[in-house]
Amino acid sequence: MEQKNKKIKAVAMLSGGLDSRIAVRMVQEQGVDVVALNYVTPFCTCTSKSSCRLEAKKASVEYGIELKTFYVFEDFIHIIREPKHGSGSGINPCLDCRILMFKKAKEYMDEMGASFLVTGEVLGERPMSQRPDAMITIENESGLSGLIVRPLSAKLLKPSIPEERGWVDRKKFLEIEGRSRKPQIEMAEKLGMGDYPCPAGGCLLTDKDFSRRMSDLLSITDMPSRNDVFLLKVGRQRFYQGKRIVIGRNEKENQRITSLAREKDLLMEAADFTGPTTLIRGDHSDDIILEAARLTGAYGKGRDEAKLKIKYWSPKSIENNYVEIEMKESEDLVIS
Ligand code: SF4
Repeated sequence: MEQKNKKIKAVAMLSGGLDSRIAVRMVQEQGVDVVALNYVTPFCTCTSKSSCRLEAKKASVEYGIELKTFYVFEDFIHIIREPKHGSGSGINPCLDCRILMFKKAKEYMDEMGASFLVTGEVLGERPMSQRPDAMITIENESGLSGLIVRPLSAKLLKPSIPEERGWVDRKKFLEIEGRSRKPQIEMAEKLGMGDYPCPAGGCLLTDKDFSRRMSDLLSITDMPSRNDVFLLKVGRQRFYQGKRIVIGRNEKENQRITSLAREKDLLMEAADFTGPTTLIRGDHSDDIILEAARLTGAYGKGRDEAKLKIKYWSPKSIENNYVEIEMKESEDLVIS
């Protein structure tokens, strides 16, 4: 079998977390030639210091495998809008998301001449997408029926085609179920995997507050841009008359908002007091400028003044404009 397996190629989904690393190592140990695939969505909770993309890259270098990174965006927005299989606690369309990812993986398998897909999925670890029935749905709808090998739970699942045909040895796989990390840590030690990160990062779509923001965004635009989504991760948000106002909560957010501003946006700050940087996206009627100015004043140090002067400018111009507001009119402003 060793000889035969040398010719077999598989694509592995590599998030960079422990489960997918173990899955890769287990099939590599059986002589399978592995190429890896990593997905990045704008909803990953990764930061610049702990990015799953970085972890996937590190793992691919360590295991000497080729890595391709896929950026999914527009297709993802469509499934958030209309999830065929429903959503989780937020607006996370996990089943549709996995189907989308596996369809992309199938395309990559065809391109690379790979015979099957390897994942680090663990039966019962994730409530929506790792139930037995969900796994079958995902396989069938992605066109990968029988072609997914899940080394961590393989012994608890129906044998896949690669197992039946002896491309991989099912006996060497595991029977892990549920959320305990202990069996994975033991296996990582057995495989001599000294350095591995914590479980791979999360997804903002499972967060109720972020989901509400995302739903508000989808209510004012058919297809948001990536920049629109990045802006959702910062500050207080107000969706007003089909427009959007974003108000920084601290200096770091003020800087981030400024860096995300686009030519057609307006930026705003109190002229004589410290406080938030505010961004207006959409058209800039007098009404919305006034609303944004009130919010800028209400969240700044000048909130107790009777009147406040607010400056605003376009990111493409160095010229400031000014508007004066009566602060008592801003007392009832409450936003998330
Ligand atoms: S949590 Fe987010 S990234 Fe993960 S399967 Fe669900 S929608 Fe997809």
